[in-house]
Amino acid sequence: MAEQFTVAVTEDVAELIDPAHPADPIAAQFVPAEAELTEAPEERADPTGDERWSPVRGIVHRYPDRVLLKPTLLCPVYCRFCFRREVVGKQGAVLDQASLARAFDYIRQRPQIWEVIVTGGDPFLLAPRRIADIVRILDQIPHLGVLRFHTRVPVVDPRRITSTLVEALAAEKAVYVVIHANHPRELTKQVQEAVLKLSRAGIPLLSQTVLLRGVNDDGAILEALFRRLVVMRVKPYYLHHADLARGTSHFRTGIASGQHLVRSLRGRVSGLCQPTYVLDIPGGYGKVPIGPCAAGQVGSSGEWIIEDGAGVRSFARCKGIAWLSCGAQIRIWRAL
Ligand SMILES: *Cc1c(COP(=O)(O)O)cnc(C)c1O
Ligand code: SF4
Repeated sequence: MAEQFTVAVTEDVAELIDPAHPADPIAAQFVPAEAELTEAPEERADPTGDERWSPVRGIVHRYPDRVLLKPTLLCPVYCRFCFRREVVGKQGAVLDQASLARAFDYIRQRPQIWEVIVTGGDPFLLAPRRIADIVRILDQIPHLGVLRFHTRVPVVDPRRITSTLVEALAAEKAVYVVIHANHPRELTKQVQEAVLKLSRAGIPLLSQTVLLRGVNDDGAILEALFRRLVVMRVKPYYLHHADLARGTSHFRTGIASGQHLVRSLRGRVSGLCQPTYVLDIPGGYGKVPIGPCAAGQVGSSGEWIIEDGAGVRSFARCKGIAWLSCGAQIRIWRAL
């Protein structure tokens, strides 16, 4: 069947799958489905345009101040909706030492690079000794301010978060870890313990979630997921609109329904539980927030319509040009 895309499931994920549930949200994320054979015309092999922005192997440099570094393209699981599904889990998926050295040189030679995002694949699949080497080398580059790791390991293979791995992340510079979680059921006791090891080491934690039809396109599920993350000391960072990877149309929702879900959380759920809803514009044009906008201008009159969390609209007149940075300058003079 969908043999062109790599398949893998960890023991922890296998235990979470409910075989009695025909549309189990955990199984849907990792077990190949017939629907993957359907390719929509708008889908592409490289939906986020990584290739276009890759000056040397293992580096993606799309924004001036930050680069992606991909030391491995292997993952502990292969998410069926993955935007890099054409490249992850393939032969030669680990960056060789010479290419890695060239990637470090690329970063060293460009003082405008402030942040390195170590991703893949999943960088936490590397041996802790190799992770420590990467951290040590990056830590010595003076113009870098932040090292950020993007990983699914704490959620799908929590036993890999050993004290050796946590020690490998120790650095002078700020090290952030961004975990990927899509459903509250993924956040088991073991996952909570793994994440706690990272936060006890002083590592700030963020999360990314992909909005997936039939998995988490539901206000109550997203609310439970984000609340549980925040309780685990993980700040929800991005809610990604699903990318146009080949064979993934069964996972995609419309943008309008994504906005509706985001709006339903606003005002009802703590601001700590609200990630930014983003779309990576197909073709490599970057990530942009696509959440519902509460403010709309009425023509060019300086008058605005502002919508609150309950959908109630107010009419606002702007007195000064700096109203967006100073709420006090908005005078609500009539409720619609
Ligand atoms: C997502 C992404 C980043 C990181 O973007 P942030 O908005 O800083 O999280 C950097 N480079 C590329 C190519 C990306 O796709
Ligand atoms: S862990 Fe990340 S990179 Fe790996 S298959 Fe899942 S979404 Fe793709």
